[in-house]
Amino acid sequence: MAEVVPGVVWLRTRHSANAYLVFDGEGQAVLIDPGSYSGGPDLIRALEGLGQRPDRLVGILLTHAHPDHAGAAALVQEWSGAPVYAHPAEFPALGPGAGFGRFRVPRPRRLVSLDDGDAVPGCELMVGVHTPGHSPGHLAFFMPDRKLVFLGDLLLHVDGRLARPIGLFGRSGTIHLASLKRVRALGAEGALFGHGSPILTGFSDRLDQFLANLRPEPEWLRILRNIPALIRFGLRP
Ligand SMILES: [Zn+2]
Repeated sequence: MAEVVPGVVWLRTRHSANAYLVFDGEGQAVLIDPGSYSGGPDLIRALEGLGQRPDRLVGILLTHAHPDHAGAAALVQEWSGAPVYAHPAEFPALGPGAGFGRFRVPRPRRLVSLDDGDAVPGCELMVGVHTPGHSPGHLAFFMPDRKLVFLGDLLLHVDGRLARPIGLFGRSGTIHLASLKRVRALGAEGALFGHGSPILTGFSDRLDQFLANLRPEPEWLRILRNIPALIRFGLRP
């Protein structure tokens, strides 16, 4: 748990992607990616430890529906009563009956659509940016006044280097590249990732270098290359 930039707390629980609590300066906060179902109780304890009042958590934002990001959404919603916001293309994976085996977890009751360019209710200085590729309704969240972007799994930041996520079969590799260019056009200075540590300055330059060195790469090769990170982060970064 660490305040990575003023008003943004980075939270981590087991088997989970990074979660971020973002304050609006007036006691209200939104939570980005609550993490895995099994980490949910620890996350809620961490929120309570920070002095977060349940009724002042005004939104639970999902970058996408994968269980290491969204599994605890229903638990945190039960605790806070806050709506869960996601892009509508992720709704089928968040609805009743979605998931399988150990990934079948309670689903949020109040799902609210957040589309490309929508301001986040309760945190108006943040907008959703549709960045498909890794998943169809993947959203990044951008704070223009702070030049700060929350990237979910659009990119991983593993051992100091940027890497593409897995799941880019077929046409989704091209779609993902378009999403990266879209994020580059935002001109963000800082980036916070679903997996890996933050980049707090010079992110757009880093992304330029990454895009310049990007080579077509078959999905099986990327999976092989990312095996250490996959093991560390769970099977679905
Ligand atoms: Zn994912």
